[in-house]
Amino acid sequence: MRAQEEILEVTAPEKAISERRNIEALCAAKGMRMTEQRRVIARVLASSEDHPDVEELYRRCAKVDDRISISTVYRTVRLFEDSGIIERHDFREGRARYETATEAHHDHLINLRSGEVIEFRSEEIERLQAEVARKLGYKLVDHRLELYAVPLTDEKNKS
Ligand SMILES: [Zn+2]
Repeated sequence: MRAQEEILEVTAPEKAISERRNIEALCAAKGMRMTEQRRVIARVLASSEDHPDVEELYRRCAKVDDRISISTVYRTVRLFEDSGIIERHDFREGRARYETATEAHHDHLINLRSGEVIEFRSEEIERLQAEVARKLGYKLVDHRLELYAVPLTDEKNKS
């Protein structure tokens, strides 16, 4: 495990807390009308360190303001996504998951057993992807990488 980490130079990306906290400021900068309910949803998203789906977001928002409906959460999340404030992920579970968009890029490893999502960044992978694009005659501007994996320590996976 440790050796592989060193070879891949995998590092946990820094979750810039200040970046996550400024969803409301970003909305204001984009001229979005911020209702009280949108503010609650923005704050819940900003304080989420995982990748919640709409139902989970709704549960968290309802604890703050029980007048918020799930359809309001759906609409608001769509609005934030269209504005580039949050990112939508499809981790092959049939439900969209969200996280605040951050400047620092990271990729995801999905534990197929537990559904846990682990964030990582590998400089070697970043470099290789740019290299592949360049060899094909392109300048890489963005990418998404999802690794679907099972734990090495999982007994069922030992041969
Ligand atoms: Zn993430």
